Amino acid sequence: MEEKLVYDFEEGSRDMRELLGGKGANIAEMTRVLGADRVPAGFTVTTEACVAYLKGGDIPDLGEALAHLEEKAGKQLGELLVSVRSGARESMPGMLDTILNLGLNDTTVEALARATGNERFAWDSYRRFAQMFGNVAKGVPTDQIEDLIAARKREAGVKLDTELSVADLQQLTADLKGLYEFPEDPREQLEAAVRAVFDSWKGDRAVAYRRLHGIPDSWGTAVNVQQMVFGNMGESSCSGVAFSRDEITGAPEPSGDYLVNAQGEDVVSGVRTPHDLSEMATSMPEAHEELIGILRELERHYGDMQDTEFTVEEGRLYMLQTRSAKRPAQAAVRFAVDAAEEGLLSREEALLTVEPAALDALLHPTFGPDADFDVLVRGVPASPGAAKGAIVFTAREAVEHDGDVVLVRPFTEADDVAGFDAARGILTSEGGKASHAALVARGMGRPCVCGASEMDVDLAAKEMRVNGAVFREGDLIALDGTSGVVTADDVPLVDPEVDENFETVLAWADDARRLGVRTNADTPDEAQKARELGAEGIGLCRTEHMFMAADRQPLMRAMIMAEGEEERKEALDQLEPLQQADFEGLFEEMAGLPVCIRLLDPPLHEFLPHPDELEGAERERAEALRETNPMLGTRGCRLHIIYPEIPRMQVRAIVKAAAAVRERPRVEIMVPLVAYERELSLLREIIEEEAGEGVSVGTMIELPRACFVADKIADQADFFSFGTNDLTQTALGFSRDDVEGRFLAKYIDRGIVDRSPFETLDTSGVGWLVRLAAWTGRERKPDLELGVCGEHGGDPDSVAFFDLAGLDYVSCSPYRVPIARVAAAQAAIRGVSDPGDPSGG
Ligand code: PEP
Ligand code: MG
Repeated sequence: MEEKLVYDFEEGSRDMRELLGGKGANIAEMTRVLGADRVPAGFTVTTEACVAYLKGGDIPDLGEALAHLEEKAGKQLGELLVSVRSGARESMPGMLDTILNLGLNDTTVEALARATGNERFAWDSYRRFAQMFGNVAKGVPTDQIEDLIAARKREAGVKLDTELSVADLQQLTADLKGLYEFPEDPREQLEAAVRAVFDSWKGDRAVAYRRLHGIPDSWGTAVNVQQMVFGNMGESSCSGVAFSRDEITGAPEPSGDYLVNAQGEDVVSGVRTPHDLSEMATSMPEAHEELIGILRELERHYGDMQDTEFTVEEGRLYMLQTRSAKRPAQAAVRFAVDAAEEGLLSREEALLTVEPAALDALLHPTFGPDADFDVLVRGVPASPGAAKGAIVFTAREAVEHDGDVVLVRPFTEADDVAGFDAARGILTSEGGKASHAALVARGMGRPCVCGASEMDVDLAAKEMRVNGAVFREGDLIALDGTSGVVTADDVPLVDPEVDENFETVLAWADDARRLGVRTNADTPDEAQKARELGAEGIGLCRTEHMFMAADRQPLMRAMIMAEGEEERKEALDQLEPLQQADFEGLFEEMAGLPVCIRLLDPPLHEFLPHPDELEGAERERAEALRETNPMLGTRGCRLHIIYPEIPRMQVRAIVKAAAAVRERPRVEIMVPLVAYERELSLLREIIEEEAGEGVSVGTMIELPRACFVADKIADQADFFSFGTNDLTQTALGFSRDDVEGRFLAKYIDRGIVDRSPFETLDTSGVGWLVRLAAWTGRERKPDLELGVCGEHGGDPDSVAFFDLAGLDYVSCSPYRVPIARVAAAQAAIRGVSDPGDPSGG
């Protein structure tokens, strides 16, 4: 059977996201739920059609789908106008192209004028189409278009687009069409538009966005062709965006923005400042009431907060789009708790609506509650959290500037996204809660204030002017995206207060998860923070960090440089009480919880000066210790095997510290970088000689050989902790310290990997080693405790994998503990599914 590449909206459903894209699947679902007369008719050209097209094929035949649409609309394309919009599997706001009012030409524009009795409207629509079509389908640069418009306004002696007369618009349309070859035939227009939207998948903006969000190039985008409805038909028409709940706070009242007598892109572009949705209750009460009802219905149907686009055409409400609302962490946890309490969702379903990585924002600073500062300007609180930094005016400066920056713009566009990533916060003078700046900032967890209209941002002069004061690049600015306040004072930022909903969500997560969550902590401060955030123990204490402090460095260096055992012992004797005190601090803080201490694991060179800085015997010794590949050199257990006095000192310090504190800790001693079972048995003997037989001794599993012989290593170990940083490094042969700056970007570019394997575990390769070692280790010793302490322990996708692989706990940096708790709960709720073909298929 031939593959179906075009689907009518009435044929699809929300389960067809991969094929129809997020937007196509949602429009289809909405058509089912609300009925065909609430949702303008249309069809979706699939992502598969896009993939085939981008491989050099052509777009599928649209004849049948179009005929069906024309039949439903009761008119032919031309008289019938359509929008042509992209729609990838995951939303990529503003990154792909859209064309509106397609079908207009010199003949149909007259028909439109007659049908609507509004000549100005018809010509303005035609002008917009000629503009978009030229830009998107014919590649005419925006500034060339803007120049034409500006010239026309100058000649007409007007300031605003809305002041142009019919004759002006006619002339402008002709001018625009003069910039390229304009097809009068609507079908030709349609085909060119579909091709152009497919092509935009490969555009620079879209590619950059995909890199940032780990979206594979291979997906392609779908295209949605939909009958146009008009929000710009006069005072009884409007366009808007509406959320089923407040998208900033999560409060259960619908919210949104709308503009009377405008098309949808006017609302989103932020060029005109829109009205609050609540005002619609007065200006268009019937449509408003219907809309509120629909928002509730959609939310019930999807079981999630919805973000919709709507148009009222001469009093009649149409829903154009719905999707799950992107939301800041504070709204996410509030929605989860409210939805469970309202009975909209079960607790487990509610937990699944929270994106773990976004919770980070709840742990970020706000303005100090007693901070004394002058408000410079107020704007729309568009994305929560506070930020402070030097003013920059362009994305490029944001990326290049050292230190904290705040990106200040009149409004933002897709090209500014790299700057969002580099900036602490975003401030704009125009636009509302649904503006590009607001959407992107919330998606990326950056604090944002927009629509601060008293502020005049002059990009040409690189100045921002507010009430007579002038600010330039590099000047300090601070903003609070939760309240909308902006100040030029150096306000202190403080850690956030406890959010009760967050606490509730975490408590539910703890009930649901199987995986334990520990932390990687080397100091009492880190341990304390991690415990506050819910850590159930320390999964990794890196003792080498204790030797980096200024008072330890010389001793450490003397220990390494020592020529013989005696000399080394002398240095170690001086280090021992310092180590003991370090451990006591940790043990006190952890009050009886497990603390896993790893024996020293430094590449030696980290403690040594460069030989050129030394003289005589010292220099010779330093030369002798130098290694070409220190990361593959005398690290971990290798060091302890050649200098057993080092682990002896460390173990003595641990034992003494454990005896000295109030609550006896559950100490685990961990040997790093083991490859051979004999390495571990030798070190186990040493540890037991110092600590007695009952001590818990385990090993890091961070070398491929250790995974292959995990059963034999398990004979010697009470526990394994996967060091997925080194395991990734050694399994892939990628240097963990160099890969980011070198070839990783190219690898992502060429589709070899989607993201850094040091961030998200390479489940089919490195993950297979983890599963192998977990499985064979447990076969040999069923009560072998299994954890992971590489960076992946705090990455939600990797946590899901570790749950599946049957580990007992993950361990991550303190601030990621809440993320890991929620990610672990979600993994448990989603349940066991196949972790993928271990061979990588
Ligand atoms: C690891 O390799 O994953 C690990 C936790 O150890 P480190 O990062 O200290 O090498
Ligand atoms: Mg390691």
